[in-house]
Order: sequence, then C-alpha cells, then structure tokens
Amino acid sequence: MVVPILIERKRDGHPLAPAEWRELIEGYVAGRVPDYQLAALLMAVYFQGLEPAELAALTDAMLQSGDCLDFQGLATPCVDKHSTGGVGDKTSLLLAPMLAACGAAVPMMSGRGLGHTGGTLDKLEAIPGFRTGLGLRETEAQVRRIGCAMIGQTPEIAPADRRLYALRDVTATVESVPLIAASIMSKKLAEGIGGLVLDVKCGSGAFLPELPRALELARTMIGLGESRGCRTVALVTAMDRPLGRACGNALEVEEAIEGLRGRGPSDLMDVTCALGVEMLLVADLAADAAEARRRLDDVIASGAALERFARLVEAQGGNPAIVDDPAALPQAPVTRVWTAPAGGTVREVAPRPIGRAIIALGGGRQRVDDAVDPAVGIVISARPGDRVERGQPLATIHARTDADAERCAASLAAAVSIGEPVDVLPLVSHRVTSAGVEER
Ligand code: URA
Repeated sequence: MVVPILIERKRDGHPLAPAEWRELIEGYVAGRVPDYQLAALLMAVYFQGLEPAELAALTDAMLQSGDCLDFQGLATPCVDKHSTGGVGDKTSLLLAPMLAACGAAVPMMSGRGLGHTGGTLDKLEAIPGFRTGLGLRETEAQVRRIGCAMIGQTPEIAPADRRLYALRDVTATVESVPLIAASIMSKKLAEGIGGLVLDVKCGSGAFLPELPRALELARTMIGLGESRGCRTVALVTAMDRPLGRACGNALEVEEAIEGLRGRGPSDLMDVTCALGVEMLLVADLAADAAEARRRLDDVIASGAALERFARLVEAQGGNPAIVDDPAALPQAPVTRVWTAPAGGTVREVAPRPIGRAIIALGGGRQRVDDAVDPAVGIVISARPGDRVERGQPLATIHARTDADAERCAASLAAAVSIGEPVDVLPLVSHRVTSAGVEER
C-alpha cells in the first residue's frame, strides 16, 4: 500500500477498494500510517464523500479494530439509542432505566461533551462516585443483572474511532456525513445490540443544522445498521432551542430524575417518549406505538423506571441518595436570576451560544484535558413564542463566581432574543426507516 497514491486517488474523486480501507485503518491503529497522511485522506473524504462499499469497509474496519460486547444467550432484546448531540439533551438518562423497566437490555455507551454540545458521560459523572469506566465484561454482567449500564467508550471498543475522532476534531473534518456515520455506527454496532434508535438533531444547535443533511445522515446510519443485522430507526428532532429547561451536568441529572417521576418539562418528555416508543418497537416489546407508549407511561407512573435508575446509580458506585435528595448533587455557590431585558415575545433561545456559555462557566471543556465543573449551568424557563414582561425571570444561572455569573448573563442576553415571533421546528419532525422518510 502506497498511502500517497491512495490519498491522491480519493482527492481526485475515485473510490478506494474495501481492502485498501481495511489496510489503511489497520496500519493507522498499528502506527504504520502517520496522522498527517490520515488527516489528508480525511480531508479528501470530507470533499469527495464515500461510496457505499467504501463506507461499509471503513465502518467494519473501525468496528473490527477492537472488541465487542457479547449478549449471546440473553433472552432479553438488547437495544440502545444514540443522539447526534445537542444542548440540554438528557433523554439518555431517562431512556436507559425506562427501557430496562419495560424488559429490554440497554448497554448504553455514550460520549463526553463535544463542541458546544453536552455529553451523557459528563452528566453521569456529576453524580458523586458514579463510575462510567466499566470494563466490557463488567458491563455485560451488569446488563444481565439489572437490565442497563451506562458507560464510556472503553479503550477496547473501536480504538480506530477514538484516534480518528481526535484527528477529525483538530483538522476540521468532523462535519462529514459518511465520517460521522462510520464513527457512530462502529461504536454502536460494537455494543452487540439488535435494535438502535437514532436521535438525529436538526436546527441551529445541531452539528448538521440543515434538514436535508440530517436526513442524509439518518439514512446513511440506518443503511449501515440494517445491513449488519441491527434494526435501526431514526427520529429527526428539534435542536433550534435547548431540550427541557436545565443545561449543565448536575442540573440535567436533577431534571432527568424529575422526568422519571413524571414531572419533567413537556418537550423533554415528548422527545424521550417518542424515542422510547421506537426502542420498544425495534425490540419487539410492543405490538404498536400505542401499546409502547402505555408501557412507558406505566413504568413512570409505577415508579419502576425511577427505581431502576437508583439501581443503576448504585451498581456503578454512585450515591443513590441523589434520587430523593437533589441537594446531594454538586451545588454551585452562586445563583443569579436573569430577567427579560424588554417585554415582547421570545423569538429565539439559541442553543449554540447557550452551550458555549456553559463551557465558559466551566461546565464543558475548552481543551480535551480540561476538568468539568459538574455544578454549573443555566436553567432556562423561557421558550420561543412565550409572551414576557420586562423584568420577568427567564433563567437562573448557577456559577462558581460572581464574575462568571456576570459573563453568563451577557451571553444569555445574546442567546435569548425578544421581538417578533419566529417559527420553531417541530419537536419530532420526521421518522426515518429503511422503508423511507415519514413526515410527522
Ligand atoms: N458523534 C460521534 O461519535 N462521532 C461523530 O463523528 C460525531 C458525533
């Protein structure tokens, strides 16, 4: 394999053979292909895309670069969901215990905050003592015992993706449909699941804000999943405003617990239940959407989902007291109410600047090795379309210092605009399956 010739071929718009992709990825993981050559190849892919056979070979090579979870012999159907990333999106924290309480096995592998978006792992680690770094065999044992586990990508899972992802992050090659699809699906397929529901975000706070690209990503991931024996469905959901009210790690855990009690904000509950319905359907645990919805409502009403969450927290070393006592979660020393600077209609609550404001508070990373402050964040009650009076409280800032709160207030003033109402995206706009796209 002469790597510069492969780069040149891809650069000029010609496909590489599946065997060449395999050799490239194996060589990269083994250290025979250096970062600079892979970076050039990634940029060529960014501009030229990948043909289906190339995408399949790249995904399989990334998947096969590591180990997989193994649920052979488990009678319970294994399912998971994955979001392409958003602000205030804590649906994973609700769905893993809800689905386990409905009789599914959920080996959920999640990521950390990326760019302006939050990450499920950072949220879980806001729970004192919670361990996300379980080994594969430990994860399998926990899923068999309590029906769910929530872990990070272990070094054994798709190590090629870990390295490629880090490289893409610093070479402006993240926003590529085939590269995102291969990255997500190589990890998800390593979970040994038979069903997967994808939450593909659309709108200004999504990595791919435009609907046609969100749909293209959904279709690409569905194709990869279905052709590898994993029933895969996607919902396109709104990320033109944050999901729910709480944005920031411990604050989101608290809101998720409220959701598991049936008291979550309606947008959060609607998206969570829409995804949960699809998870039950791909797991064959409900005959139709109405039955699936009833089962989800039942596990919330009976307390079974909340009880499963408490077992999950305890099993992974976290303090289960947080379930009944939110004060046991990390608390920020400074809270400040942010009020409407003028009367009128809330036009926009822009997720990107809010995500960046949380990073500036210390609730996310500016550099890969930054520590995350679990306590800080913003609870935003304002929704696009709300009529507000001047001076009305619209958000509460949770900060480490007064100066941080001050800066965050200025960011909120830029993120929350008041004026003429604008159209917002439907919360769940499309359902995508291998059969096609259904508008909701
Ligand atoms: N999430 C991933 O895991 N990979 C990507 O490329 C983008 C989002």
